[in-house]
Amino acid sequence: MKYVFANWKMYLDFDETMILTNQLLAEGLPSDITIGLFPNTIALTEVEKAINGTSLMLGAQNVAWVPKGAYTGATSALFYKNAGCTHALVGHSERRHIFNETNDAVRKKMEACLDVGLTPVLCIGETQQDVENNKQQYRLKKQLMKALEGLDIGNNDILIAYEPVWAIGSEKPCLPDDVEDMHGWIKQEVKNYTDKNIPVLYGGSVNAQNINKYISKQSVDGVLIGHASATKEGFTSIIQALSTS
Ligand code: PEP
Repeated sequence: MKYVFANWKMYLDFDETMILTNQLLAEGLPSDITIGLFPNTIALTEVEKAINGTSLMLGAQNVAWVPKGAYTGATSALFYKNAGCTHALVGHSERRHIFNETNDAVRKKMEACLDVGLTPVLCIGETQQDVENNKQQYRLKKQLMKALEGLDIGNNDILIAYEPVWAIGSEKPCLPDDVEDMHGWIKQEVKNYTDKNIPVLYGGSVNAQNINKYISKQSVDGVLIGHASATKEGFTSIIQALSTS
């Protein structure tokens, strides 16, 4: 079953989040796709109540790596788990590039998620500068190694989201054939760290017009969608595109 994960970032306030969640529920959800919502923390508990008993998954956009303590402004993986989350984004490019999150912090967050039974969605991606310097694979290798080497995944799952930084919010998505190749390469790399079959999602300017070009690729196990998932028109047309494919 392919994944369609909606990262609502800080696009929607509490009321807007609840309106969109209820619109999605009213629209009806395709049963052959795993849809996950990653709302802002303020709205998360209410979203959980609204989607409880449906097939929708709930995820955190970011987690703190310690379970509890004097960490002003932080919300731990444990708290998100207790609030009903099953998944958490870890190392999203906006966390890495705007909030200076390092590979070491990403690693601690991976461990924190696994400790409490949240499925981490490890986000990796190269910048435009990496592409220009021919360091695309170097960057991804490093992000994977730092996050996964020696990681005790136990009975948990992990997911990877390949999100080239230059393709996020840029209206210049990575070409589906290039995504297919890159996912094949990532899956090979991941074998250095685990025998598990780790799904790889693509993220970067996916919308209703192009989603099927990605979802239909064999090595694309799903998509992570930002901007286009945060409006009723955007998300419902994505769902319609999926159900008519
Ligand atoms: C993202 O930030 O995870 C993302 C994929 O954003 P967008 O769809 O807006 O490019």
